[in-house]
Amino acid sequence: MDTARALSDHLSTLLRREHTALAEFLVALADFDGRRAWADLGYASLFHYLHRELRLSKGSAQYRKVAAELIQAVPAVVEPLRDGRLCFTTVIEVARVVTGENWETVLPRFYGLSRHEAAEVVAALAPHPAPPERTVLTPVRGPGANGSTVEPRAPVVTSGSTVELKGPALAAGSTVEPPAAPPPYRSLAELTPLTASLQRLHVTVSECFARKLERLRDLRPDLSDDALLEAAVDLLLAKAEKRKGALTDRPRASARPSRDPDRIPAHVRREVWRRDGGCCQWRLADGDVCGSTHALQLDHVVPLALGGESTVANLRVLCAAHNLLAARAVLGDAVMDRYAGTPRGRAT
Ligand SMILES: [Zn+2]
Repeated sequence: MDTARALSDHLSTLLRREHTALAEFLVALADFDGRRAWADLGYASLFHYLHRELRLSKGSAQYRKVAAELIQAVPAVVEPLRDGRLCFTTVIEVARVVTGENWETVLPRFYGLSRHEAAEVVAALAPHPAPPERTVLTPVRGPGANGSTVEPRAPVVTSGSTVELKGPALAAGSTVEPPAAPPPYRSLAELTPLTASLQRLHVTVSECFARKLERLRDLRPDLSDDALLEAAVDLLLAKAEKRKGALTDRPRASARPSRDPDRIPAHVRREVWRRDGGCCQWRLADGDVCGSTHALQLDHVVPLALGGESTVANLRVLCAAHNLLAARAVLGDAVMDRYAGTPRGRAT
């Protein structure tokens, strides 16, 4: 009994230390973000810094980024995090509804809750304005005759199942305004790895999409659903890449010189895109390149405004965030704030 009590006291001490260390880390991170020190180190965002420099998983990086931003907006969350009243895994939910104005009444509602319970509180405080009508396309997989996995069969289509958000009953008048702008989702589609070569896609689609898919199935009964979707994605991808001037099937042998010096000839775009492998070439502090494939742009190493030319040697592929950082580095913040109309680097 005495040993058990002593061990428990030891665990309790370690847990307090864990809470304190986490709170200290988040306070320092909030300061780091407030100074935009990540930009000085060449990163496109705080998330990018946490993931690439501190080697945190994307999920861990996202949690810490949200917590750091929440601490800057509502410093009062630090104490409950430090003493363990507020569980770190609830910060994403807390950040959806707690503001500098309402924290005194709203924040205590999250004390001692799990992530799921916190989500229920958020649903009660700020109900979804239009709960999504979901059409779920679920590829059915079953064991083969000898227990091996078989190819997905025709999908089961479940239409119109409404997602219900249940929350604890609230006292009258306790509903708060939903946050001004809902936090952005990277993607509504969820990919769950099934095997090394197969992933299951969960995506909420409109009734309209489901009808189009039906029509396509009727027209191409020879193709499985994933083959249909892949063909559609291929078509859009080819179109989007062509628009980027990246790849065309029939490159012109000799491009007519344009009278517009700002215009980048298609063959130059293609060459730059091919050389840079279609990903951001911004050099990070660790010597690696950013490698992002999100919102890519062609950047003039020496800007046009400073006499740079639209040549293969003077162009590179950058993501939008790093293109902005590059422009700020060359042209200065004053010029870019006027030009972009956005605060420093927040344009991502
Ligand atoms: Zn980048």
